[in-house]
Amino acid sequence: MATAADQDLYQQGVQSLMAALQAHRPDADLARIDRAARLARFAHRRQRRKSGQPYVVHPIAVATIVAELRLDDDAVIAALLHDVLEDTQTPRAWIEAWFGQEVVTMIEGVTKLSLNVQAEANEKQRAVAETHRAAESLRKLLMAMAQDFRVMVIKLADRLHNMRTLGAMPEKKQTRIANETLDVYAPIAARLGVYHVKSELEDLSFAILHPQEFAEIRDRVAKTNREREGELSEAMVTLREKMAERGLRNFTVNGRSKHLYSIFNKVVKHGVPFEEIFDLVALRIIVQEPHECYTAMGVVYEMYRPIPNLFTDYIQTPKPNGYQSLHMKVMGPGNAPLEVQIRTKHMHEIAEFGLA
Ligand code: MN
Repeated sequence: MATAADQDLYQQGVQSLMAALQAHRPDADLARIDRAARLARFAHRRQRRKSGQPYVVHPIAVATIVAELRLDDDAVIAALLHDVLEDTQTPRAWIEAWFGQEVVTMIEGVTKLSLNVQAEANEKQRAVAETHRAAESLRKLLMAMAQDFRVMVIKLADRLHNMRTLGAMPEKKQTRIANETLDVYAPIAARLGVYHVKSELEDLSFAILHPQEFAEIRDRVAKTNREREGELSEAMVTLREKMAERGLRNFTVNGRSKHLYSIFNKVVKHGVPFEEIFDLVALRIIVQEPHECYTAMGVVYEMYRPIPNLFTDYIQTPKPNGYQSLHMKVMGPGNAPLEVQIRTKHMHEIAEFGLA
């Protein structure tokens, strides 16, 4: 039965959802979405997550991710109700009458994409079955995407929240889900162009599949970042000054850590010693107009020697998912390789939220 603590968790969840909507979807119909949250609470009232929390916390978190990705009201509502048809006795007709046919169709799309996994007899069978499943899942997901990409985004948000809360599951299940996330969901996130979701999915899987290496790389990155902080912030100050001298206005220059899984891949899969991976931090320059990207590029090259063959112009030749940016590598401060990305504010939003 619902306790006072359950009530608090529900309220907190709904508050975060409303805050996300106000930030990313100012025109959202908050009353209609709140009605869907209350239906989800009622429908899941007897269920709990493995963590012991009331189940409704999960669909609310999924809806919040969907709102952050700026999907429309129907998608946010379908996210709130995504487990209702499958896991509760709630009649389909209620949802249709209250929220419309489109919401029901989306929920059914998400439900149909469920991938039921049986325990295979031995390790070899399991490995074979897993590979087939990954290919099959990927195929199903791509088909769903062609029909209504919102279904795909809800599925992705569902997986992201499940990964964030995977700690409560038995270890064996954690491993299976983390592998599937790397094989199926991270590539889908990349294809949709939501790179921060892809990075988070990869790092969460990495932490589960290789806990020791994860901790080691995390600590070493933190240490290297502390050591290089001074020279990098100095470099950013100089860059800003020179960009302003060239007449650029309303731009930002920021440093960001590369995500841990990409470093792990270099170290483990490609055998690069950690000591040789210097570009743990990348600089990101965001300007207003496309032509200003090239002005900023000139400023970077004036300050630092380019590393040959490590320049890609995704502005002239965007990626198929619409991603645009200039990528370059230079010998940065302390004569260490430094990656720099330059894009406009508009290009940055596409990189963060996809073409949605
Ligand atoms: Mn779910």
